[in-house]
Amino acid sequence: MLTISPLAAFEDNYIWCLCQPDNPFCVVVDPGDAKPVLTFLQQQQKSLYAILITHHHPDHTGGLAELRQAWPDARIIGPTAEHTKIPLLTEQVQQGDVVQLTPFNTQFQVIDLPGHTLGHIGFYSKPYLFCGDTLFSAGCGRLFEGTPAQMHNSLQKLAALPADTEVYCTHEYTLANLRFALTIEPDNQPLQAYQQHCQNLRRRNKPTLPTTLATELHINPFLRCENNALQQRYQQDSAVGLFSQLRAMKDQFKS
Ligand code: ZN
Ligand code: FE
Repeated sequence: MLTISPLAAFEDNYIWCLCQPDNPFCVVVDPGDAKPVLTFLQQQQKSLYAILITHHHPDHTGGLAELRQAWPDARIIGPTAEHTKIPLLTEQVQQGDVVQLTPFNTQFQVIDLPGHTLGHIGFYSKPYLFCGDTLFSAGCGRLFEGTPAQMHNSLQKLAALPADTEVYCTHEYTLANLRFALTIEPDNQPLQAYQQHCQNLRRRNKPTLPTTLATELHINPFLRCENNALQQRYQQDSAVGLFSQLRAMKDQFKS
């Protein structure tokens, strides 16, 4: 069992911090900024054991140099395909690799998730999924480097994980994503109810994350492109075609 805490960074990033009650170590995912991590470690009296990186963007890697200075022995584990863009990695991983976090008695499987960036990876250890900027609650990452077909395929890999998977995304984009999702499926009742739920959380300044795969399969339009009725509504005859159209519409959407 892991205790997973969101450390807020910048406008809407979360740096996820993995701890265990009687364990002196912790692990952080995508530290775009070192300060929230250093403050948390000091408050909790923990040492930094490892850093997991999903992709090369600065809001996910910007804290590495300062954290490395403070914790020179910490492992820094990230995508092989982006190692030239993340020079501080101590370990490069890709699809099929397993990351052993021995002090936590936990191992993460690495999943290649090209789309947002070409080398983007996710880390999965049942029931926890750290998916960076690939899957968001009610949305998905922008296609900065990959094609719609690549991103759709990456999302389908995630959709195939168990329904009770806890999805730890890196951004609090949920309410804006929901406004778009409701324009695509205005009559989707679980979607309407989930918007109410998330609005209540945000009013109390609580994260809407993690979400679960079960929820996302009901409410996330980017995971619902296999739905024939939805394809017909947008005159698409394939899931990738619909995904591509929805992603382009979301890029233009003013919430
Ligand atoms: Zn990104
Ligand atoms: Fe990001």
